[in-house]
Amino acid sequence: MIVLKSTDEIAKMAGAGKVVAEVLELMLEEVKPGTRTSHLDLVAEEHIRSRKGVPAFLGYNGFPKSICTSINDVVVHGIPDATTLREGDIIGIDVGVILDGYVADAARTYAVGKVSEQARRIMQATEKSLKAGIEMCRTGKHLTDISHAIQTVVEDAGFSVVVQFVGHGIGKQMHEEPQIPNFGPPGRGPKLEEGMVFAIEPMVNAGTYEVEVMEDGWTVRTRDRKLSAHWEHTVALVSDGARILTLP
Ligand code: MG
Repeated sequence: MIVLKSTDEIAKMAGAGKVVAEVLELMLEEVKPGTRTSHLDLVAEEHIRSRKGVPAFLGYNGFPKSICTSINDVVVHGIPDATTLREGDIIGIDVGVILDGYVADAARTYAVGKVSEQARRIMQATEKSLKAGIEMCRTGKHLTDISHAIQTVVEDAGFSVVVQFVGHGIGKQMHEEPQIPNFGPPGRGPKLEEGMVFAIEPMVNAGTYEVEVMEDGWTVRTRDRKLSAHWEHTVALVSDGARILTLP
């Protein structure tokens, strides 16, 4: 069942979303060659707690850190550790915050210094596909109109969408119904209604769509070890369209 949110609840989720956006903005300054991913985690957690929020990922199914840091061929769920960022890396940073009983979740991929042309292209395509998906968040559309819009942008750019991990409904819980695939034919699934709130999150690979989970049980890598990028926003369906709750 998809839980619809009231205007009041969406306002609370926007409060959590603001903190998420602040952390992602802070990361613009912190992401540079020589920075350890554990430092990014520390900065994020301190900021979230300074805003009276709780890091939503910390302890979630046993996840050990406050954010996910996914470098190069890591698709999602990379665990912050002593790894140092190097010039030319790309890093996906995923942040979830619980505030006032509600969760918001967003991610973006950052360039570390100067990156390759391919890295720039995959980052751009991923961000563009998220925008295309969000444009489909209107009452009367169907859930997979979002999926199809994302897949179309990604494949037109010559990249592939991950199918093993998908977006999700969000609210009091980080993962609520429905699942939101980043692929598939349009016009399927439930009709979109006011009060639905989705975490839409294209995960885009440069080569094969196939991924594998590493021995730590979290880190997801591309099977061919080529690059991957990730972008995500928490989006509410309101009377006049989509409201992105995790914009700065
Ligand atoms: Mg998510």
